[in-house]
Amino acid sequence: MFDDLYQEIILDHSRRPQHRGALGEEASHTHLHNPFCGDDIHLWLEFDGERVKKIRFSGMGCLISQAAASMMSELIEGKSVSEAEQVSQDFHKLLHGAEEQARSERIGDLVALGGVRRVPARIRCALLAFESAGAAAGPESRRTQ
Ligand code: ZN
Repeated sequence: MFDDLYQEIILDHSRRPQHRGALGEEASHTHLHNPFCGDDIHLWLEFDGERVKKIRFSGMGCLISQAAASMMSELIEGKSVSEAEQVSQDFHKLLHGAEEQARSERIGDLVALGGVRRVPARIRCALLAFESAGAAAGPESRRTQ
């Protein structure tokens, strides 16, 4: 599914995930489960106005879901909500649309997960972290300070 270089990046993120942990009550929290694979993710976002000040995640899941959560967290912490949405859109394009369209700088290490597009059953694994972040950033769960 993945070539060697990409395989290495994915393994590296799953062995040494970035931003693993939890945040306190001031953060917006979501918990999502992917029944097809068993992936389970808790995600916390803390905002400073329109900026993602901090992101943390925990939970269990397959290599793809864990690596995607680590890669995403690394990319969107410190970014504005609209910049984070662009990253999400580019990653969705990589998995669903034209591959060359999504080769933007914005998606960083996430490009390594491009091979998932050939295995539709695993696409949700790759998108679960973004789904969680989208839910946590939504007006319903977003807490302003
Ligand atoms: Zn999975």
